[in-house]
Amino acid sequence: MGEDKSAANLGYRVVQVGPPNITLWDTEPSALEALNVDLVLEIATKEEMVLQALKDCDAVLAWGASPITRRVMEAMHRCVIIARYGVGVDSVDLEAATEHGIVVTNVPDYCIQEVSNHALLLLLACNQKLMVFHNALCDGRWDHSLLDGIGRLEEQTLGVVGFGQIGRELARKALALGLKVLAYDPYLSNAGVEEVGATPSDFTSLLETADYLSLHVPLNDKTRHMIGEAELRMMKTTAVLVNTSRGPVVDEGALCQALLEGWIAGAGLDVFEKEPISSDNKLIKMENVVLTPHIADYSDASRAEVRRKAAEAVARSLSGSHPINVVNHEVLGQARIDKGMT
Ligand code: NAD
Repeated sequence: MGEDKSAANLGYRVVQVGPPNITLWDTEPSALEALNVDLVLEIATKEEMVLQALKDCDAVLAWGASPITRRVMEAMHRCVIIARYGVGVDSVDLEAATEHGIVVTNVPDYCIQEVSNHALLLLLACNQKLMVFHNALCDGRWDHSLLDGIGRLEEQTLGVVGFGQIGRELARKALALGLKVLAYDPYLSNAGVEEVGATPSDFTSLLETADYLSLHVPLNDKTRHMIGEAELRMMKTTAVLVNTSRGPVVDEGALCQALLEGWIAGAGLDVFEKEPISSDNKLIKMENVVLTPHIADYSDASRAEVRRKAAEAVARSLSGSHPINVVNHEVLGQARIDKGMT
């Protein structure tokens, strides 16, 4: 640690780490081409594998949920930056990163349209019973007896939990469709909610009133299992839960019970407590759900953008500058970058 790699013309080891389905693009090599970088792909999903993959790196490009824990960071003696491909940073121990002088970045703005569109897609699919009709038709049944229970959007209410970039973009789109929108976000002023045309709400009223409840909070200690049995029992029996945030925000066991026993009417889910979901996950067999495999953020353009921005953060850090979109601000001033360790 501390050797001047550029002077010695040594290559930086930059590791792309994540789950098995990562594909290689030329975006990252292009963003890093001015530096002498050895870009390595490591498939690692469990802590020990991640530790082995990252222990000698100078920088990390982190996909998915591969856990970058305190133990992993204790082995990362040279690393100056962990750049997350994505918005959420729940896979990284931020406190440990700060203590080790490692800067953590995310890409907060690459998929606001994609995810809000996807949440709306799940909402509309549940409203129109899309999968029910699709499955019946593919089964040879032209069945109009299934029509009961389709609400008129102009008479319905969307409750948004977490009124950040994606939540408020969904609100704008839902308002344009005639839905009334309530928002719960304890970190935002009422004015911040009202400027979009939504109505501020407390959590309990939101649960009790919403015909659609859409989750847009980060995963942390306060939001883990924020929607559990008690909350699901407070919701209308006709309500639909939409989750494009993080799986563990919802207690999936309680949700399965709620869907099977009719505490709520349906769910549209892009994220799950365990990803990929196992083949015996009860949700798979249910008629009243629409499921997608954590793809809400995806468009060809958003994927190119997230790759470029994450790699640019690494390039800046290895050049000795602070990257943009630092998540653990407290590290700045005492980061390894600030100590000239690149
Ligand atoms: P954001 O940071 O702009 O907004 C999050 C909002 O949640 C903030 O306004 C914050 O005040 C609020 N919040 C935090 N804790 C809360 C709590 N306990 N109760 C209510 N509100 C709370 O983030 P964003 O860009 O809108 O993204 C939201 C989340 O969506 C991300 O953290 C990420 O986990 C998830 N996400 C998923 C995908 C996907 O592909 N499915 C893609 C991008 C983001």
